[in-house]
Amino acid sequence: TSISELITAKMTTTPDFPEPGILFRDLTAVMADGPTLRAVTDALLDEIPADVDAVVGVEARGFLFAAAAAVVRGIGVFPVRKQGKLPGDVLAETYDLEYGTATIELQPNALAAGSRVYVLDDVLATGGTMAAAIRLLERAGYIVAGVGVAIELTALNGRATLSGYPINALLTID
Ligand code: IMP
Repeated sequence: TSISELITAKMTTTPDFPEPGILFRDLTAVMADGPTLRAVTDALLDEIPADVDAVVGVEARGFLFAAAAAVVRGIGVFPVRKQGKLPGDVLAETYDLEYGTATIELQPNALAAGSRVYVLDDVLATGGTMAAAIRLLERAGYIVAGVGVAIELTALNGRATLSGYPINALLTID
């Protein structure tokens, strides 16, 4: 069975969540099943270069994938979080949503400048979140080696927002 089939078999789709008109893809059952979690983690790791120093997880589901991949590889992990969650000096990036804006933050000195990082999240939609995460990481002096997601919603064209960065999407949905 391919990784895309494994994800397809376990993911759920909820219409009108969290807002009317949004078709929400939920990976809870993908992560809750041990062998599937391991298969997804390994498939993400397949595209994470050997010289990466740490994996970055984007709040909130990205934390789960990032921690799993980091432990299996034996490297570190740190978070990009929604505004107001991280203590001390933080870098912030604001990006546009369909209605309004969102802000995400990073503690800049978790690793030495010049470290190589790889960013993981559950779903790539418009790419706005991932692009802002990359801006934060580059402002902190890190080299972003690539990004990985379980699901890419291709109709939203997130890939265009992330041009130049390798993207590993385990399942693409129109
Ligand atoms: P983007 O910024 O439009 O690419 O949206 C990506 C962010 O929103 C990620 O952090 C995802 O976790 C979340 N997201 C967007 N669409 C979905 C979805 O259908 N299911 C789960 N999370 C989603």
